[in-house]
Amino acid sequence: MADVVLKNVQKSFGRAKVIHGVDLDIRDGEFVVFVGPSGCGKSTLLRLIAGLEDITGGDLFIGGERVNDLAPAKRGIAMVFQSYALYPHMNVYDNMAFGLELAKSSKTEIDAKVREAARLLQIEALLDRKPRQLSGGQRQRVAIGRAIVRYPKVFLFDEPLSNLDAALRVQTRIEIAKLHNDTRATMIYVTHDQVEAMTLADRIVVLNAGRIEQVGTPLELYHHPANLFVAGFIGSPQ
Ligand code: ADP
Ligand code: MG
Repeated sequence: MADVVLKNVQKSFGRAKVIHGVDLDIRDGEFVVFVGPSGCGKSTLLRLIAGLEDITGGDLFIGGERVNDLAPAKRGIAMVFQSYALYPHMNVYDNMAFGLELAKSSKTEIDAKVREAARLLQIEALLDRKPRQLSGGQRQRVAIGRAIVRYPKVFLFDEPLSNLDAALRVQTRIEIAKLHNDTRATMIYVTHDQVEAMTLADRIVVLNAGRIEQVGTPLELYHHPANLFVAGFIGSPQ
């Protein structure tokens, strides 16, 4: 069970305030997509939820627990970045197993989880390869696999497809949708691609300069944009 609730969440870097009091209620199992122009605070919001940045104001709850001061590893989340950040000297299997070894899982348990994730992502044949022997799309699947093996309650994705070519983007997007279907985990996904947002989201959060402009289903935003900014961003007819 992991709903994610933000209450008046704020973030400043020095004197620069980049998140201005965000209120948001993400339901357990929901797929929520953050969209907005470059620099509007999408990555910062994800990093606050992940615990990679300290919150300067407000409260953050995951699964009902206030996590403002909880270490990232204890939040039950896993994050997939735009750059795959695999360990170049380790093969695919070890890249996926690494976090579990740190968490002191047993060898049998680690093996079962890695093979299950590899099956889900259809990368079983690649387990012995090094990252340099993989295509961009395969690397990103390994990065997703590394998140899956931790059985997170919440997945955070920061523009996971933006380094892939168009065909791979579509294929990986479909796999992420399937992953959501299979796991029913809560997913929070950042993109500046309108098609990705419209196809993946249960609800879309439109951000602008550190504030929420509108939250709604893709159809609500498309047909009833709150303002010209949202209409422009979602591509609503004007
Ligand atoms: P987005 O992901 O929507 O492109 P970011 O969350 O990366 O936007 O950035 C939001 C704002 O916060 C930007 O103005 C950016 O320059 C600033 N910012 C992000 N990280 C830092 C940091 N570590 N130090 C100072 N400013 C930062
Ligand atoms: Mg970003």
